[in-house]
This record gives sequence, structure tokens and C-alpha cells, in this order.
Amino acid sequence: SSDDVERARELIAAAQRITVLTGAGVSTDSGIPDFRGPEGVWTKNPKAELIWNVDNYRDDPEVRREAWRERLDHPMFAAVPGRAHEALVELERSGKLLALLTQNIDELHQRAGSSRELVAELHGSNHGTVCMSCGEVSPMAEARDRVRAGEDDPRCVHCGGILKATTIMFGEMLDVDVLTRAREAALGCDLFLAIGTSLGVHPAAGLVDIASMVGADVIIVNAEPTPYDRVAAVVLRGGISEVLPEVLRS
Ligand code: NAD
Repeated sequence: SSDDVERARELIAAAQRITVLTGAGVSTDSGIPDFRGPEGVWTKNPKAELIWNVDNYRDDPEVRREAWRERLDHPMFAAVPGRAHEALVELERSGKLLALLTQNIDELHQRAGSSRELVAELHGSNHGTVCMSCGEVSPMAEARDRVRAGEDDPRCVHCGGILKATTIMFGEMLDVDVLTRAREAALGCDLFLAIGTSLGVHPAAGLVDIASMVGADVIIVNAEPTPYDRVAAVVLRGGISEVLPEVLRS
């Protein structure tokens, strides 16, 4: 309701140190499907989760071929930032943004103009590849070019090892430094804003608990209910591209 929007605006105006956590929902209006929303990749095909498991990916060449096929035409690589990403760049201008923690792997926050120092990619980025043997990191565009040219399971040009995206797959640990930074940002904020995330994946979702434990106000912007709605001072249910610019407008 408009009362909730007003209440959220007041909390943001009063806050000094704001930490934001975003999920796939900030990018759906840029044409990238989420995982667990009504049109989500897993909602439509629960088996899709299997190809994003690191053990299956390492052990099964057919899983890798499927992953590369899917990556070739994925809308993520043609997507541009939308109003939600832009509204968060605007928030940064207030000088009160402590950190922009994202579960997204699409780099749209950075492309919209959010400072790289403020963005922490909890689940890595889909715009790079890493060799599972020698650790060499390369641009995803190079591997996609090779797949487009006919390779179905491109290998590391240095050692022949298996290439994967620089994302955190199921069965992998989050980067310790990134996670530490995220926890510090949750501990150090007085307002925590969770946007476009079903808050179903840990440890990312647990950041809400940390912020709430230290007394920060929590605002949730998401179309569907989340397990954390009860700890939130305000829950806004509308479409993110409409709600967020209105809430963050100064
Ligand atoms: P999720 O799919 O679990 O949840 C997204 C939530 O956003 C859903 O609850 C949905 O109802 C809501 N939503 C979607 N579009 C919305 C809109 N326009 N307005 C309001 N609400 C909207 O996503 P998650 O919590 O980020 O979790 C999952 C994992 O998915 C992450 O690990 C992430 O790496 C990965 N992922 C990333 C991308 C991306 O980079 N854009 C896309 C798909 C999945």
C-alpha cells in the first residue's frame, strides 16, 4: 500500500548505513528469468538444478554439453540494466550505501554504474570461466565464441582442464573473503534492504538474520512471500521496477 511505501521512505531517510541484498528478481525485467518465481527456471523444470551441481558437471560430459548449449543462447548475455539497477545507483549517490550484496551473476549492477568496491558478488559472475585444473580465469565471451564455432565442451587452452563459469555452483563453497565482507556489511548496517530474492538460499538468506539481530530495520521488496517477512519492518509486494524507484526517490 502507499502507507507501506511511505514508511519505507521514512526508514531510508532516517538510516545512516544501508546494506542492500539483491536476487534474481531485480533482473527479471531485464529479460533474465529467475529460479523460483512463477516463471522461474526451476519452477518450470526442477531437474535444471542438476546441471548446476559441480560434481555432476565435473563427472558427466553430457551435463557440460547441456550447460554450454544453454549458455549459448541465454538472455543474460544480451541483457541491459533496468530501473531497479538504476535506482540502486541513485541510492549510492546519497553516500549512505555501505554495500550492495548480490546473489546475481549477471553483472548488471556494475554495468548500471554501481561502484565495483561496493558490489559483492556472493555467487560469483557468469562473465568469466575458470579452469577446474589449473585455475586460469578467462572471459566467458571467449568460451562462448568457441562453442558458437562448434566446440561442445571447450577445454582450458593452457592445460586441457574442464572449464566452468566463475559462479558458485551447488556443492561449492562461497568465497570466504566475499562472505566475510557480506557479514560485516550486515553487522554494520542500520537498515537492510532485501530486493527480488526468495531468501531461500543460505548463507545469503542468513544475512537478514544477522542484520535483524544487530537491530537494523529490514525492508523486503519481493512479489512473493519470503521466510523472513516476519522480521521485516516493511514488506513491499509490488513489481520491483515500479516500487523501488518510488521508494528510493529522494
Ligand atoms: P529466486 O529465483 O529464488 O527468487 C527471485 C524472487 O524474486 C522470487 O521470489 C520472485 O517472486 C521475485 N521476483 C521476480 N521478479 C520480480 C519482480 N519484477 N518484482 C518483484 N518480485 C520479483 O532468486 P534468488 O533469491 O536470487 O536465488 C537464487 C539464485 O539464483 C542465486 O543463487 C542466483 O545466483 C541465481 N540466479 C541469478 C540470476 C541473475 O544473475 N540474474 C538469474 C537466475 C538465478
